[in-house]
Amino acid sequence: MPAETAVDISTTWLEKELRLPEHCARHGLPYARKVTFALKSNPRIGSRKKVLAPGYTSVDRAAEYLNQVKIVKATGWPMCAHCIRERAVGITLASVLLFLGVAAFACAFIIGALTDAAAGVFVGLFFGGLALLLLSVVPFQRVSLGRLTQAHVTDDGQAVHVTNPKPEFVREIPAAARASQAADRRAGD
Ligand SMILES: [Zn+2]
Repeated sequence: MPAETAVDISTTWLEKELRLPEHCARHGLPYARKVTFALKSNPRIGSRKKVLAPGYTSVDRAAEYLNQVKIVKATGWPMCAHCIRERAVGITLASVLLFLGVAAFACAFIIGALTDAAAGVFVGLFFGGLALLLLSVVPFQRVSLGRLTQAHVTDDGQAVHVTNPKPEFVREIPAAARASQAADRRAGD
């Protein structure tokens, strides 16, 4: 496997909303659409298991996340036709699963309330619907803009870290936009 490459774009440069590359970072293809969205950092917060500890609730976990997450607005980020198609497919799949899940729930309650169908039918539809709803999150996450653009904000909020960018993308990032080495080091910690 080739070593991981990356480019760090300074957050202060991004905030000026200057022109971003014309090629997508993931495929190196010319952009088909430029998107504006919020990039986030991935703060390392207490593990899910910690929620089981007394006095630490999922609300604490959410508060911890909100305290630490850094959000940066990306304006005019290039996405090629391939990226856009992938996102459309993922969102369609997620919507279909969500719709089927809700429909299964509705059927479960209608059948439960209006008919004498066996309890097994109600339970089956109820849990089937629940499984579909939970499953719909997967394609949705897979095609999130952060995932598709392979970009996230570093923990210190100084830079946007793009993982394995194509040379076509990197070449078009002006020197002034590159985050300082200090930010790189902190991000790597
Ligand atoms: Zn692409």
